Amino acid sequence: MTETATHTAGAFTPPARFAVPGRIEVNGRVAGTWQTATLTEIHRETPGASTFRFAVPGWAGHLPGQHLMLRLTAEDGYRAQRHYSLASAPDESGHIELTLDRVPDGEVSGWFHTVARPGDRIEVRGPLSGFFAWPGDRPALLLGAGSGVVPLMSMVRHHRARGLTVPLRLLVSARGPEELIYAREFGAETTPVFTRTAPAGTPVGRLTSAHLAPLLSEPPAGGWEAYVCGSNAFAEHASRLLVAAGQPVERIRIERFG
Ligand SMILES: Cc1cc2nc3c(=O)[nH]c(=O)nc-3n(C[C@H](O)[C@H](O)[C@H](O)COP(=O)(O)OP(=O)(O)OC[C@H]3O[C@@H](n4cnc5c(N)ncnc54)[C@H](O)[C@@H]3O)c2cc1C
Repeated sequence: MTETATHTAGAFTPPARFAVPGRIEVNGRVAGTWQTATLTEIHRETPGASTFRFAVPGWAGHLPGQHLMLRLTAEDGYRAQRHYSLASAPDESGHIELTLDRVPDGEVSGWFHTVARPGDRIEVRGPLSGFFAWPGDRPALLLGAGSGVVPLMSMVRHHRARGLTVPLRLLVSARGPEELIYAREFGAETTPVFTRTAPAGTPVGRLTSAHLAPLLSEPPAGGWEAYVCGSNAFAEHASRLLVAAGQPVERIRIERFG
């Protein structure tokens, strides 16, 4: 793979189950098939993360929290495939959105951030994994860091789009405000935790038991279902805090981005 490879529309040139309203019931047969996705929009979220919107006419529908497998194929037949969480809520638009962090020297994320243009076609297969899915039927306590907020945002968007009243809270950790993905969309359900820099008056530091205590000391009826997503280190840290604060371990769902 070389840095000199050029961009060709439609080609990857390697650079250096739950029933709830909406189009959400998943067709397993369709989900197992590779489908063409056409990139329609690119939207910058932060200096290091962008959202990519795709038209996928045959999309099988998904549950908030699920992910897909994405495949790029080079002209010489070389293929690269990676998992990406669905950022968009399930809807009838025939489109889905993914938000990708730019990983230094990353093969797939690098191509998206430097080469991809609207009109390009890639392949997707999914949705995958029901374990991290939130059907919108139980109180949800969402803990995410960095791009780990992506599947959690699908849940927040679903909650809003359907006008759900079931309690939902999001704690999201980022190095600083400029790295907070979806910052403009957050509302009263969200508490940002800044680990390196923060606006004046906002504390700086890691997620601690003090962030969780008020939520876990007064749980909603039926208790919280906790969803944790981010790096291995964050997933480990956040799930330990949850257990220490009394959250039943069998009610903690973890998605690791590696
Ligand atoms: C279920 C699941 C859902 C995911 N959802 C998302 C998502 O919504 N958004 C998103 O941006 N990513 C997500 N990821 C991560 C994604 O699959 C890729 O691992 C990531 O985009 C890097 O791929 P790449 O081809 O760019 O880098 P590669 O070419 O695979 O790796 C380049 C270098 O970066 C290192 N590296 C790889 N991944 C990371 C990383 N995440 N952070 C730091 N260094 C890394 C590698 O060790 C290597 O040295 C998800 C992963 C999983 C398993």
